Amino acid sequence: VPIIELDSVSYQYPDHTKALNNVCLTIERGRKIALLGNNGAGKSTLLLHLNAILKPTSGQLRFKGSVISYRRNEIRILRKLVGIVFQDPDSQLFSSSVYEDIQYGPRNLGLSEEKVKKAADAAIGMTETENIKDKPPHFLSLGQKKRVAIAGILAMEPELLILDEPTAGLDPYYANKIMAVLEDIHNEDRSIIISTHDVNLAYEWADEVWIMNAGEIIAKGCPTVVFQDE
Ligand code: ADP
Ligand code: ADP
Repeated sequence: VPIIELDSVSYQYPDHTKALNNVCLTIERGRKIALLGNNGAGKSTLLLHLNAILKPTSGQLRFKGSVISYRRNEIRILRKLVGIVFQDPDSQLFSSSVYEDIQYGPRNLGLSEEKVKKAADAAIGMTETENIKDKPPHFLSLGQKKRVAIAGILAMEPELLILDEPTAGLDPYYANKIMAVLEDIHNEDRSIIISTHDVNLAYEWADEVWIMNAGEIIAKGCPTVVFQDE
């Protein structure tokens, strides 16, 4: 069963902006998906639907084969398995120290303190944030904040990891480091979706690309085929 399926999902913001139009997609296990599209194409809106932060105006999503009904308990289970790193790390860092922030997610899942520490320490190792772990997040540079936000989601060990422009703001060393971590996660048969403006990165990294324009998926498939048709 796919992790998530979208059946003709459309979305209008309260001010009537049409951000998604009849989007149909399937997210299988063990995929590396790159989402491309101009500013305003609807990428963030689409990603926010995948962990039920936004609810379609029409159409539906299925999670492991069952239609999502947006009951509180169901959303809780969904968010345990689908983790999102937002484009702007400030929107997800709010603890008094980096270490607290990284522990927040796994603690919120109800893990024992021992498991919380273990998950947080592993995520700190993966993102090389050991040296900043006692700092208050708001004192960090954008790239450091980004790594901390990524660490916080990694610590929850999601089955589907969604990252909105994960390498924006990172220098090439850390951009490569993060992409290597995503490779390891993929090797554990988990799925990853990144939105990016970096076509080369999409071409080299992804095994599936989705191209959006004006709220629609205008192309999808394996990168060699999709980019050949462009
Ligand atoms: P992308 O992530 O591809 O840049 P978005 O999903 O952010 O695109 O935006 C899709 C469309 O929805 C754009 O026209 C944008 O202006 C609009 N939009 C995004 N957020 C809101 C909002 N909160 N209220 C109204 N319109 C919005
Ligand atoms: P920005 O758009 O803010 O410059 P990018 O997403 O382009 O951020 O990433 C920063 C830099 O890291 C870019 O030069 C990009 O090409 C590079 N980069 C990111 N991921 C990889 C990767 N897997 N392999 C090689 N270079 C990468």
